[in-house]
Amino acid sequence: MKTLFRNAEIVNADGSQCADVLVCGEKIERIAPRIESPEARVVDCDGLLMFPGAIDAHTHFDLDVANTTTADDFRSGGRAALAGGTTTVIDFACPNKGESLQSGLELWKRKAAGCACDYGFHMTIDDWNESIRSELPAMLAQGVSSFKMYLTYPAMMIGDQAVFEALRALKELGAIAGVHCENAGIIDALIAEHKAAGALSPASHPQCRPDLTEAEAVGRLLKMAALADAPVVTVHTTCAAAMSEIQAARARGQKVYVETCPQYLLLEDRYYSLPGFEGARYVCAPPLRKPRDQARLWHAMADGEIQTVNTDHCSFTLAQKELGREDFTRIPGGLPGVETRLELLYTYGVAAGRITKEKMVELLSANNARLYGLWGRKGAIREGFDADLVLYDPKGEHPIRGAAQKANVDYNPYEDFPISGSIRQVWLRGRLSAEDGKILREEGGQYLSRGLPILD
Ligand code: MN
Repeated sequence: MKTLFRNAEIVNADGSQCADVLVCGEKIERIAPRIESPEARVVDCDGLLMFPGAIDAHTHFDLDVANTTTADDFRSGGRAALAGGTTTVIDFACPNKGESLQSGLELWKRKAAGCACDYGFHMTIDDWNESIRSELPAMLAQGVSSFKMYLTYPAMMIGDQAVFEALRALKELGAIAGVHCENAGIIDALIAEHKAAGALSPASHPQCRPDLTEAEAVGRLLKMAALADAPVVTVHTTCAAAMSEIQAARARGQKVYVETCPQYLLLEDRYYSLPGFEGARYVCAPPLRKPRDQARLWHAMADGEIQTVNTDHCSFTLAQKELGREDFTRIPGGLPGVETRLELLYTYGVAAGRITKEKMVELLSANNARLYGLWGRKGAIREGFDADLVLYDPKGEHPIRGAAQKANVDYNPYEDFPISGSIRQVWLRGRLSAEDGKILREEGGQYLSRGLPILD
C-alpha cells in the first residue's frame, strides 16, 4: 500500500522544503520535488505543514501514586497522544518496591499493550544494589537505554552514593539517566512550617518548593555527574535559577540535556492562589513558576540551551485532586498535557515568533529521537524513517476545550487558550490514525526497542 503526499511543506529540525512524500507500507520511501506513483492513493497537502510525529519522552500512564492511580492509562493516554500529534510516548516503567527491573519492564509492557501510539519505556531506579546493577545490560538488550532517578520523594530517593554509582554504571554502558531535581529536606522543612501554621491550601504548594530548592538539586546533580564523568538529563526544568546551574556545568565542559514542559512555559504560580480549591488542578512538582522564569525558558529553547519539551503527563480528575482538600500535600501531583503540547508549542512558540517551526520539530521530535535511541526510525521526515506524519493546517483559530479532549480528565489546564491552526491528520507508520481530533485506529501502537542515545 502506497500513499503519496502531494506538495507538502515538510518541516524538519534541519530545514524545510516543499516536496512530495511517497510512503510505502510503514516507511517513507522517497522525498522529491515531484513524484509520480500511479498506484498510490494521493493526499493533497496544499497549504499544510508536515511535521514528523511528535515524541513525548515524559509521560506517566497507569501509575499508582499517593493512594490513587493516574486517570489516564495507556488506552486513553495513547488516544490523547495521537489526537495531539504525538505518535510515540516514552513512559516511565517503575518496578514495585523491592522487585527487579525486569519485573517492572514486564509490568509496563502489560499495561501498555493495545496503546494507540508507539511506546517505549525509561526504567526507574528507585533502589540500588548489586542485583539491580547487574540487570542494567539486560535492560539495554531489551531496548531500555534511559533511566530515571529522583533526588526528592522519600519513596523514590536512593541517596548520593547510589546516584553517583548508577551514573557511572550507566555511562559505562552508553546509557543515560534523567533526574528529578528538588531538595527533599528543605521542602519537608517548609511543609512542616506551613502545616504548623495551618496554611493547608494549594497556595502553600509553590511556597514549599521554591525555585532554589530545584536549583540546589540541579547544581548537586551536575556536580555528581561531573565527578562520575557522565552525561545527564535534567527533566522538567522550570526556572532561571536552574538554568544558571546548567550554564555553569556546561562551562565546565559537561554534557547536560535539558527538558522542560509546556506548563512551565505557559502557566504561572499565581494560579495556586485562585479562589476555592481551584489551585489544586495545577499542583505538580516542581511547581509552576513566575513569568520571568517562563521568559528565561523560552529564550533557552530558542538559543539551544534546552533540548526537549515533553509533558510529564500525569493526570488526575478533579475528584482525585479533592483528596487534598484539607491538606495540599495530599493533592495528587501532576497535570494532563500529552494532547495539547504540539498545538501549544506551535501557537505560543512558532506563531508567536518565539521559536521557528524547525526549532519546534527539534524540541518535540528530533532531539528526543536522538537522545532516546530512536533516530533512524523516528524524529524526522526522511527516506527510510517511519512514516509518522502530522499534517497541520496553520489557518484558523480555535480554543482548547477540555470537554473535547481524549484524555480521561474532567478539566484542562489550558482551557480556553486560543490555538493557531489545527492538527488535520496524524499518520502512524503509514496508517491514517487520527483525523480532526477523531481516533481512527485504536490499537495501532507497538513497543519500541530503543538503541543507545546519540550524545552530541
Ligand atoms: Mn515525571
